[in-house]
Amino acid sequence: MEKKIKSAEILCVGTELLLGDIINTNAAFLSQKLAELGIGVYRHIAVGDNPERLKRALADALESADLVITSGGLGPTYDDLTKETVAEYFGREMFLDIHSLDRIEAYFKRTGRVMTDNNRKQAMMPEGAVIFDNDYGTAPSLALSDGEKCVIMLPGPPNELIPIFNERVMPYLLSRRERVIESRNIHIFGKGESAVEDILGDIMKNATNPTVAPYCRTGEVRLRVTASADTREGALALCDEMIEKIYATEVGEYIYGVDVETLERAVVDNLKEKGLTVAFAESCTGGLISKRITDISGASTVFMGSCVTYANEAKMKLLGVKSETLARFGAVSEETAREMARGVREALGVDIGVSVTGIAGPTGGSAEKPVGTVFLGISTEAGESVRALSLSAMKSREYIRAVSASNAFDMILKKISEKNQK
Ligand code: ATP
Repeated sequence: MEKKIKSAEILCVGTELLLGDIINTNAAFLSQKLAELGIGVYRHIAVGDNPERLKRALADALESADLVITSGGLGPTYDDLTKETVAEYFGREMFLDIHSLDRIEAYFKRTGRVMTDNNRKQAMMPEGAVIFDNDYGTAPSLALSDGEKCVIMLPGPPNELIPIFNERVMPYLLSRRERVIESRNIHIFGKGESAVEDILGDIMKNATNPTVAPYCRTGEVRLRVTASADTREGALALCDEMIEKIYATEVGEYIYGVDVETLERAVVDNLKEKGLTVAFAESCTGGLISKRITDISGASTVFMGSCVTYANEAKMKLLGVKSETLARFGAVSEETAREMARGVREALGVDIGVSVTGIAGPTGGSAEKPVGTVFLGISTEAGESVRALSLSAMKSREYIRAVSASNAFDMILKKISEKNQK
């Protein structure tokens, strides 16, 4: 009986990969698929079209993993050597597979191309191989196994590799996998990675199934919760238990969603659900908030529009910010943010108006208001409130703008959940 497959390495063959001429999308695709199957991927390896190095990489990969999936090097030319190298590793002779030869000849006829003698090489197979027909090109794929270890060889072109994997290799692996792995992602805004790790330190350290791993993105933290079980349902149930545990900690109030794409996606979905509309008054973000919300398809049902009011005059003319407010407190102030938010809500007749005014740098800061000082206002029928940020002046203009925009989305989510509680 064949041994069940628990672990894998992905070995991509092609000098183009090493030269940086192509991006290794096959490795990413195969990793995702193996995760779906519950097969743990230990390593991605890329080697050039060099038989010695390929042989070494193969032996090394098979030493640590049950399965190696290769991509590339199944072509008709002399430097396509994957099949021959794997056959040699397992000590198998090559033979001409008539079924594959017939299919290759038929492929050439169908596509009106001339078949060369080289293409016969693609029908040469190691003894004992499981052959996966290729309906998308000339190189058949194959699996070679000695009962302990298994190598699956796929062609390099993604338009062949992807359908062959989905249609032919997936069923083969389904019968040979050990466990299912599932992941869920917790999205956090408003607490940095180290603060999250401080609070969840013990949970994260002691977690083995599921595991909890943090990832950072501009101003955000994502926790990936990964569990393995005999079934998909079992693995998801383990993830959900862990998610509940994390919700119950101090981090809970900073979670804006589980398995949501982005903050702006969460905003659009929440506003839609509540039947609410929003508009923005943007100064230092220069339209970034509006850009990010309109990246989400379906935003038109909740997003009315925005005013990008960079100059004081625009703030006064379009939003009704008072000249006394600007003169007394300045454009970057709590008071101006408040009036901007109210102004855009009233001008566009929406439920929620949100404003941003700040100093994105690198110039324009002062001792009183350094670079990174940002005020965000939010206005509803019930009144206005303001969030003040003091972002590090060391951060780039781009970062300050991105985090300001994320804060605008976070304020909307908080406002909606406040409303829910009432
Ligand atoms: P062919 O029969 O086309 O010669 P092959 O199995 O020999 O197929 P390669 O010659 O190694 O494959 O690669 C063919 C093409 O496939 C490359 O030029 C590249 O465009 C694409 N390709 C190869 N490997 C990868 C990879 N790892 N990720 C994405 N694309 C790849």
